[in-house]
Amino acid sequence: MDTVFFVVPCYNEEEVLPETSARLRDKVASLQQRGMLSPESRIVFVDDGSKDTTWELIAQYHAEQPEYFDGIRLSRNEGHQNALYAGLMQVRGLCDAAVSLDADLQDDINAVDEMIAALDAGNDIVYGVRSARETDTVFKRSTAHGFYKLMSLMGVELVYDHADYRLMSRRALEGLAEFKESNLFLRGIVPMIGYPSTKVYYQRGERFAGESKYPLKKMLGFAAEGITSLSVKPIRMITALGISIFAVSIIILIYSLIRHLTGHTVTGWTSTVFSIWAIGGLQLLAIGVIGEYIGKIYLETKARPKYIIQEWLHGDPNSATDTRS
Ligand code: UDP
Ligand code: MG
Repeated sequence: MDTVFFVVPCYNEEEVLPETSARLRDKVASLQQRGMLSPESRIVFVDDGSKDTTWELIAQYHAEQPEYFDGIRLSRNEGHQNALYAGLMQVRGLCDAAVSLDADLQDDINAVDEMIAALDAGNDIVYGVRSARETDTVFKRSTAHGFYKLMSLMGVELVYDHADYRLMSRRALEGLAEFKESNLFLRGIVPMIGYPSTKVYYQRGERFAGESKYPLKKMLGFAAEGITSLSVKPIRMITALGISIFAVSIIILIYSLIRHLTGHTVTGWTSTVFSIWAIGGLQLLAIGVIGEYIGKIYLETKARPKYIIQEWLHGDPNSATDTRS
């Protein structure tokens, strides 16, 4: 029997937590009854610096049912990826495997049965992959597909239509801990861990309450993060662009010499002005892209912590084996 921890990052999720905690607890209880999960299995909510009553709710669930609920409180909002990572790193020594999923339960929790079966069959990483996107808004669907296109164009290999719903075995989590980069893009890093892996398909539902914590601005930031932390292709593209523009400039040089020799020097104002703007724009763009990478290097060399844990509710608060810190 496996001890599986369910790690759920939560940012301002007071609207969904009552429902989510009940549904997850019932799921864990039913899996335990069927002998698929050990009694030590539990749900770990990671509060990512929420501004609402999320942490109070988590503390309440832990106080009422410590056999089902743990809580980790980050000292501030660090973003979904870091919150998830914090949870996984905190529990990795305590479980045989961890399943990561969103607080809004858009990912069908019934896929967990298959994930555990796949774990028992010898897989270390089981990717939850959505089989359809009917429930998404047209906007979300097209931006998501644009995202995968862009990523593959930039040389980042991702599991298509897999978000962060996945099961990772203990040794896969240990593997993840070896990746020391502070710019975290889990979807890109997890496949690099290796070990046997498989996919489980599920239907993704709608968020049943509250609104998305991933507005367009965060999504764009997420895509930029993914590209620059996993690929150097943009820098190569700039080099290629530089070479082709240099080639063009030689043609222009020959052209202007011919114009000069044939006595048409005053004409060509349009092309001059155009080139100034075009070259200026391209240079700024190129500097910007290179700056992104230098910024990344700067942050990596600082080796700042990805998160700081303010509180950890784990184990039974009333028993002598309380492991709270
Ligand atoms: N989340 C988080 N920190 C953030 C933003 C989001 O921990 O800064 C969590 C959020 O609580 C949820 C998950 O990340 O559990 C996914 O967010 P959401 O469902 O809003 O994203 P969407 O499904 O719209 O892409
Ligand atoms: Mg969601």
